[in-house]
Amino acid sequence: MEKISSLAKRRGFVYQSSEIYGGQNGAWDYGPLGVELKNRIAGAWWKEMTRLHDNIVGLDASILMHPRTWEASGHVENFTDPLVDCKKCKSRFRADQIPQENLTAKKCPDCGGELTDTRKFNLMFKTHIGPAEDSASIIYLRPETAQGIYVNYKNIIQSNRMKIPFGIAQIGKAFRNEISTKNFIFRTCEFEQMEMQYFVKPGTDEEWFSEWRKQRWAYYEKLGIKMDHLRWHQHGPDELAHYAKDAYDIEYLFPMGWRELEGVHNRTDYDLGRHTQFSGKDLQYIDQDNNNERYIPYIIETSAGLTRNLLMIFCDAYDEEQVAEKGNEDDWRTVLRFHPDLAPITVAILPLMKKDGLAELAQDIRAELKEDYAADYDQSGAIGRRYRRQDEAGTPFCVTIDYQSKEDGTVTLRFRDSMEQVRVPRAELSARIRSEIKAYKRIK
Ligand code: ATP
Repeated sequence: MEKISSLAKRRGFVYQSSEIYGGQNGAWDYGPLGVELKNRIAGAWWKEMTRLHDNIVGLDASILMHPRTWEASGHVENFTDPLVDCKKCKSRFRADQIPQENLTAKKCPDCGGELTDTRKFNLMFKTHIGPAEDSASIIYLRPETAQGIYVNYKNIIQSNRMKIPFGIAQIGKAFRNEISTKNFIFRTCEFEQMEMQYFVKPGTDEEWFSEWRKQRWAYYEKLGIKMDHLRWHQHGPDELAHYAKDAYDIEYLFPMGWRELEGVHNRTDYDLGRHTQFSGKDLQYIDQDNNNERYIPYIIETSAGLTRNLLMIFCDAYDEEQVAEKGNEDDWRTVLRFHPDLAPITVAILPLMKKDGLAELAQDIRAELKEDYAADYDQSGAIGRRYRRQDEAGTPFCVTIDYQSKEDGTVTLRFRDSMEQVRVPRAELSARIRSEIKAYKRIK
């Protein structure tokens, strides 16, 4: 993880928030390459969920919601972690994340000092809206995006004439006052989620639950993730959330071990039932194709962290490879093997020399390609060094312009993963890159 976070910082993917003030725990900033990668991951998920499904539509709900929302959802009462403090070294732990013997003996796992009793700690960030800081003005930063979907479900049925089964997808920020925020961007206080809520007829929920498990698994396969680094974990009775009938996590083998990446949950009619109760509004679905039958839909949720997906994709893509080019056995490269659809830079244009009109020709080619692709330009340093820089940024294609390019209009297309090079007529370059992206299969 150390290598990954330092590469992420060095190449402008992720910086610590407010670093010049010593950093802010649990918050991170996404630099030029990081924001591109994050947008592309969000774009791939959005396409998968909305464009590829005729019956799933999008939503962008506000972060601040009526405080009753969080009473109805159960977050005010139940969204807590068990917390213990060390009286001596002042370290703070989640009681469920330290060894049971320490808890029983009330002994700090770090310094051996005495631990406090376990107390419940609500993870929601609480603030005030308006000028008065009294209990009537309390408002929360949303701890999940899902509730914004539930409170809008009737609006969407009416405005878009949706019929069950249908889904609503949303990407957005969520906030949790996490007790421990180790492991780089894995668990943070401010993060982004990609959630899809699928509304189904009660009785069909188990079928849809297994369908969505299949689809979410296939999605990661399509992105070229190492499938032996993914596994399912079913929640046991003591892990199931208060609203869930069944829940599976997709776990990824991160450098610190297997950890949750995404959850698929059968939330039953809990959420809409509770919002009916707390708002006094009738949230039943009226099935006009079925004698106006009325029911509260069941909800199947797929809930993934966008920032956690970014960490997973970064870890999954990271590779160090001995390249023994030019007979030098000690030559190593660091390469990020991103799927070309996700890579922050798709193609880099590199003139072999700055002089003799090669730079101008390269700029001209770049201007043409940037209409279709995220295209970078680099003319400084030896060509081998420039390839390494692009490998480290995860750029799948490099185009090199040399003297022959001036003569016969061909350029060299170099592939990141195989390091193979082919000559391509300039006029065919854009189409060739397009077909390479479409046919992309991860080879290492
Ligand atoms: P945990 O038990 O690890 O705290 P959770 O089970 O409460 O997580 P969910 O509420 O199911 O997590 O959230 C759905 C997804 O949102 C998670 O699978 C994860 O990808 C992401 N996520 C949740 N909490 C965080 C966080 N603090 N930082 C980054 N991503 C998060």
